[in-house]
This record gives sequence, C-alpha cells and structure tokens, in this order.
Amino acid sequence: MGKNKCKCPVCGIEAFEESVITRFAKRYYCNRCGEFILDDDVSSLFSDTEPGPKLKASLFWYLRTNENNALRVKPTPLICSYNCKEGIEGNYQFISTKYILNLFPNSINDQINMILTNIAGLIGFIGGEIIVDFGDGKECFPIFFIDVNYDSFNAQKQLNEKINILSESGLLKQTSILGDNQVAYTLKTKAWDIVQEIQSKMIYTSQAFIAMWFDDSMHNARDKIRQAISDCGYLPVLIDEKEYNSFIVPEILYEIQKSRFLVADFTGDRGGVYFEAGYAKGLNKDVIMTCKDGYFNPHFDTKQINHIVWKNEEELYERLVKRIRSTVGIV
Ligand SMILES: [Zn+2]
Repeated sequence: MGKNKCKCPVCGIEAFEESVITRFAKRYYCNRCGEFILDDDVSSLFSDTEPGPKLKASLFWYLRTNENNALRVKPTPLICSYNCKEGIEGNYQFISTKYILNLFPNSINDQINMILTNIAGLIGFIGGEIIVDFGDGKECFPIFFIDVNYDSFNAQKQLNEKINILSESGLLKQTSILGDNQVAYTLKTKAWDIVQEIQSKMIYTSQAFIAMWFDDSMHNARDKIRQAISDCGYLPVLIDEKEYNSFIVPEILYEIQKSRFLVADFTGDRGGVYFEAGYAKGLNKDVIMTCKDGYFNPHFDTKQINHIVWKNEEELYERLVKRIRSTVGIV
C-alpha cells in the first residue's frame, strides 16, 4: 500500500490518496484542502446531486479554515456519516456530514463573506489572482458555493451569476483574459477589508467559557450548552469542573482570556455570571446571553443586548448553535 494519484474528491485538483487500515476510509493529501480522511460511505455522497455539491463546498471551506489556523496542533479531520459521534479521539477529529452540511451559508451575505475568505486564502496576497474557467468551472465550484449538480448547465450559470454579484458589489476585479474561457480575477480593497475583519475575529483558540448558575435544576441546560458549543467545534470550559472554592479566582479570569467567546446564562440571576460576562465584554470577546423564560429579569444594562430567552433545553440548544454560528463562527 502507498499513496496513489487521484483527483481531490472535494476540490477536484490533482491529489494523493491512501487507504486507512483501521476503517473503511481513505486519507487524502491535497495542496488546497490539506490532509483529511473520508469514510467510504461519505465519499459516495459526493457524486449525488443532493447533497454532493453542498457537501463539497462546505467541506472545502471547513478544511481551508482549519488548515489556515496553523497555530493549533490539530488532529486529522475525519469526515464520518450523518449521525456519527463527533469529537477528538486519538489523532482524529471526527466530524459528521451533518455538521459539515450545516456550515453551508444560506444567506447571500454569508455566502459572499465565505467566498471572499476562500478566494483570499487561495490567492494569498494583494494582487494575487484566481483563474476561473468558464468552459469547465468544476475546480472553482466549491470556492463559490455552487449548490447544484456540477454536471448541469445550471452550475455554470450559477458561477457566472455569483461572479457578477461580486463584481457589481465592487469586491472582485477582472485582471486579464487568458484564452477563450479562462479569466483571471483579483480582490478589490473593499473585499480585503471584509476578509481582514473576518480574520481579526478568528483568534487561535477553540475554547468557549460557560458562565451560569450551577444548580441541580440547571443540569440539562448545562449539558445542552456544552453540546451546542462542541457541535460548533469549540471546547466548552465550565469553572465548576475545575475544583475551585472561591468566587472569582485568577484561574477563571485566565480561562476567560483564553476563550474565543463566552456563553452567559442569567437564569437564577447570579452575580458571578454578570461579572464574568462583563469581564469578557471588556476583553472584546463575543458574549452570548441566554436566560430561561420566566426567570428573565436581567439588570437594565444587559436588557438591550439580544438575549436568547429559552423555554426548554432543546430550544436552548437549537438557538445557541444558530447564534454561535452567526456571531462567532465555527472552528
Ligand atoms: Zn482539495
């Protein structure tokens, strides 16, 4: 056994593959997507009309973001079936196709932002170019989040339209025409501004701090908050899991400093939660505020901030995942 030449199943360029001995899966090495493993049943989804294109685009974005986050020591991403158990085990980061498909941007604004970070990552520097082949755009499809069957006429049409939108919005500029179908583009200043803004929020930590009331009645809520955070790719940190016996200790402040964002649940109106949320805000961290319906009576100065007021733990989970993805982003 060894590495064989292949086409990257995600982005379509020349790559290498080898079998994984311990499971029905293949490991890929791609210059664009990096190193990753696909379970065989996931690979078979790539050629399906649904969800093939969406899966390719979302996975491309995930792998690129993961790859660029170079300061973290990372296990190899292993993409497994829709309902597989996620998390880090040994040298692998298990990621379900459900998680990957959820990354697909639904609004045109999110799509534009994600396309811009894709392009910026590929061209690397100001003035760098991306070449789009209008005769056969397959290699560009995942970059532009094309979500229709790659072999159809509509895929090419969608690519043209997205490039039009980016050009008309003053984000993309045509630099040269290379032959009949190939056109080179570069990003305009406005696009780099957007990319820089997005990247400045991506700090090199995957930790999220949970500030909440540690009462027995909150046991399920705590599990759901933890699950929502880990389902978005972050590592949840709860202070009561470390054995502290005093109120605000330097270790707590240190853990907040290290965190990418903080979830503060105000159910029970605990002073510590206000303190920790305020501390994180002062450090310019994203603070996501939640509270159980019926308990919602926060101090006046937090009322103006959009709380997630939840009725049950399922709702808390669903809304928290959406909020993390839309405000903080995913790892
Ligand atoms: Zn690739």
